[in-house]
Amino acid sequence: MFDLLIRNATLPDGRSGIDIAVRDGRIAALDTGIAAEAAEVIDAQGLLVSPPFVDPHFHMDATLSLGLPRMNVSGTLLEGIALWGELRPTLTREALIERAVRYCDLAVSKGLLAIRSHVDVSDPRLVTAEALLEVREIVAPYIDLQLVAFPQDGYYRCPEAEAALSRALDMGVDIVGGIPHFERTMADGAASIAALCRIAADRGLRVDMHCDETDDPLSRHVETLAAETIRFGLQGRVAGSHLTSMHSMDNYYVSKLIPLMAEAQLHAIPNPLINIMLQGRHDTYPKRRGHTRIPELMAAGLTVGFGQDCVLDPWYSMGSGDLLDVAHMALHATQMGSGADKRALFDAVTVNSAKIMGLEGYGLEVGCHADMVLLQARDPGEAIRLRPNRLKVIRRGKVIAETAPEVTRLTLSGRPEQVDPADYAPRHAS
Ligand SMILES: [Zn+2]
Repeated sequence: MFDLLIRNATLPDGRSGIDIAVRDGRIAALDTGIAAEAAEVIDAQGLLVSPPFVDPHFHMDATLSLGLPRMNVSGTLLEGIALWGELRPTLTREALIERAVRYCDLAVSKGLLAIRSHVDVSDPRLVTAEALLEVREIVAPYIDLQLVAFPQDGYYRCPEAEAALSRALDMGVDIVGGIPHFERTMADGAASIAALCRIAADRGLRVDMHCDETDDPLSRHVETLAAETIRFGLQGRVAGSHLTSMHSMDNYYVSKLIPLMAEAQLHAIPNPLINIMLQGRHDTYPKRRGHTRIPELMAAGLTVGFGQDCVLDPWYSMGSGDLLDVAHMALHATQMGSGADKRALFDAVTVNSAKIMGLEGYGLEVGCHADMVLLQARDPGEAIRLRPNRLKVIRRGKVIAETAPEVTRLTLSGRPEQVDPADYAPRHAS
C-alpha cells in the first residue's frame, strides 16, 4: 500500500507509461505497470512528469517591489542599482517578508520548489538578511530556499560590506557572493574574488558570484574566479552568474578560458530574460544579445543552470515565476532548437540547477524526495514551447498546487468542439 501512485507518466528522459509510487514522502518505486494499491491515485494520461523547477539565481529581497519608489525609466542595470539604493534605506523586515512569501505562492503554482536567492548585504542594518532568513523557515515545508550574501555595492567599493557580509554568514546565510565587475578597478575585482573564495574555503561554504555582467570583452573576472576556485580547492562548489562578457570576448581567448573553467568545475548560471533586456545597451546596430556562450559551456561539460534573476523589481518589470519562460527565451537567443538542445535546456531549469545548489534527494529515482510536477505537455520540448499549466505540483508526496487543464471551447461549425494546446504535435510525427 502506497500513499500516492501516479500512473502512466512520461519522464523527461523519454520513458513513457511509467508509474511512480510514493511512500513516506519519498519515491518508493518507479516502473511500468506497478501492481499495488495507493491512498491516492493520479492518472497522468501520458503527460510529462518532471522533477520540480529550480531557480538558482534570484533576488527575493527585491521581488514584487516594482514602482518603489519609482519606475526605472532607462531600463538599465545602473539605473536599477541606483533605484534599489533609494529603496533600500526604507525597507522593513515586515514588508520584505510579505513580498517574498507572496512571491513564493506564485513560484509554487509554477512548480518552482527550489530557489537560490541573493541577499543584499550592503546596508549594515542587514534587515534583508534577517527577513529572508525568516522567509527560509516559513517556506521550508514547500520551497528549498538558499541564501547568498551578496555585496551589491561592491565588497571593497562599499566600506561597510566586508563586515556586513561576514555578519550575514554568521547569522546563517548559506553562500558567499560577490560582484567583481562592480568594484572600482579590475585589480579590486580580482582581489575581491580571492578574499571571498578564502572566506568560503575557511567556512566550508559554496560561492556564487555575479561575474562579468557587462558587454566589456575585457571583463575577465571569470578567469580569476576559476583560478581561485582551483587554488582554494573549491572545485564543483563555485558558480559564476551571468558571465555575459563572454559573449563579446575574443574567440582565441575563450578557447583558453573555457577549458580553465572546466578544470575548476565551475558552474555557469546565465539569466536569459534579464540579460536579453539589459545587455547591448551601448550598441546601435547590430545589437549584441549579450548572453554567455551557453552551448559551448554545455559542450565543455560545465553544469549550466538558468535563473530568473528578477521578477517585477527595479531591474525587470516582467517575470512570472515560470522557469519555462526562461528556457523559452534561452532557446531563441541561443538558437538551440534541436530535440537534443531542448532536452538540454529543460535540464538547465531542473536537474542542472539542482546539482548547482547541491540539493539532496532531488530527481525522479527511487529514494528521492517525492517532489514532482505534472505538466499539460507531452515532452520537454513541448513544455518549453507551450509553457503549459502545471496540473499538479507535488511536494514530499502531497499535492500542494493544482491547475485545471487549459482547454478552449470552439463554436465553429464542422470543427472540433475543443482545443487542447498539448494536442497539436504534428500528426505525421506519431
Ligand atoms: Zn542577480
